[in-house]
Amino acid sequence: MPELPEVETVKNVLEELTLGKTITNVGILRMQTIEGDTNEFVNKVKGATISSFERIGKFIIFHLSNKNVIISHLRMEGKYFLRNETDKLTKHDLVFFDFSDHTRLVYNDTRRFGRMNSENEENYKEVKPLNNVGPDPFMMKDVSILVKAFKNKSIAIKTALLDQSIMSGLGNIYVDEVLFATKIHPETPAKMISAKQLDEIWKQSKITLQKAINAGGSTIKSYHPKEGISGNFQVSLEVYGKKDSSCVRCGTKLRKIFVNGRGTTYCPKCQKNPGIPALFGVTGPIGAGKSTVSDLIAKHGIVHLDCDEIVHELYKTKELQNRLSKLIPELKITMET
Ligand SMILES: [Zn+2]
Repeated sequence: MPELPEVETVKNVLEELTLGKTITNVGILRMQTIEGDTNEFVNKVKGATISSFERIGKFIIFHLSNKNVIISHLRMEGKYFLRNETDKLTKHDLVFFDFSDHTRLVYNDTRRFGRMNSENEENYKEVKPLNNVGPDPFMMKDVSILVKAFKNKSIAIKTALLDQSIMSGLGNIYVDEVLFATKIHPETPAKMISAKQLDEIWKQSKITLQKAINAGGSTIKSYHPKEGISGNFQVSLEVYGKKDSSCVRCGTKLRKIFVNGRGTTYCPKCQKNPGIPALFGVTGPIGAGKSTVSDLIAKHGIVHLDCDEIVHELYKTKELQNRLSKLIPELKITMET
C-alpha cells in the first residue's frame, strides 16, 4: 500500500505530466471506483482544465478550473498511466480522462480498492472523505492534538498512530521506523506515552517521511510510462520487513509481532514496553503463605505494603496498648510481658 511519501511522489509526477491539460472526455469502466453518482462526476469534470495538485494525507486532489476537485485515493495498488487516447485499454483500467492534446490519463488498479470522487472547491475539506482526515506531521504546529487524543487511550501506540483521523500520513511501514527511532515499544498503551515522547514521535515522523519523499524525488526523473505512476521506490528501512536481522543500534535480533492484526517489527532490547502500572493485593487465612509472597515481592524490588508489618508496629505504640487494655483488661498482662 502506498504511504504518504509514495502518494506525494505520484502527485508530483501527475503534476509534471498533466498540469494545464483540459479534460475533453471521461470514461468510467468500473462504476464502483467512483463514489457517488457517476453522471454527476462526469459533469463536474468534463471540459475543465487541471489547474493544480494537492495532497492531503494519502489523498491526491486535482484542482480544476471550474471550481471543482477530483479526490483520488490509491489504496492498495492504484496507479496512473499517461497514454495516447488511441492506445488499447487493458483489463485493470478502471477510469480514464482524455485531454485536448489527445493524451489520456488512465487510472489502473489490479486490486480495485482505489476510490475517486468529485466535490466543490468551496467545501471539499468539510465533506467525506476528507472531513475525517487529520493533519499530517508537516501540517502540525505542535503535538497538542496527539496529547489530547491519546490521553485516555489504552490501545497500542502503533494502532493510535495509524488512526488517520487523528494524525494522517503514517502507514504500517513508517510507523515501525518512527517507533524504532524513538525507542518506543509498538504495544505501549498510547496513554503511557509522555508529551515529550509524542514530541519526539512527531519530529521523527517528519524526518522519516521527508527522507522517503526525497528518495521519491528521483522517481519523477525515472518515470517510465509503461510502469505507471505507482510511487514505489527503494528507501533504506531499519526495521520494517527485517525480522531476524540485527538491530543497527545494539545488534539484537529484530522481532516480528502482530499489533491489532498488523505485522510489526521492532527491537526487543531498544524498545521496551513499560505497560500500565498494575495494583494487586494478596489475602488469605492464617498460614496460607502471605508472608512468603510478600517477601518474594520485596525481593524483586516491587513497591509493596505489608499490612502484617503495619499492625505489628501499631501494637508497639503506647497509645494503642492503653486503648486495647481498657477494652480487654486481660490483654494488659500479655503486652507487658
Ligand atoms: Zn536494538
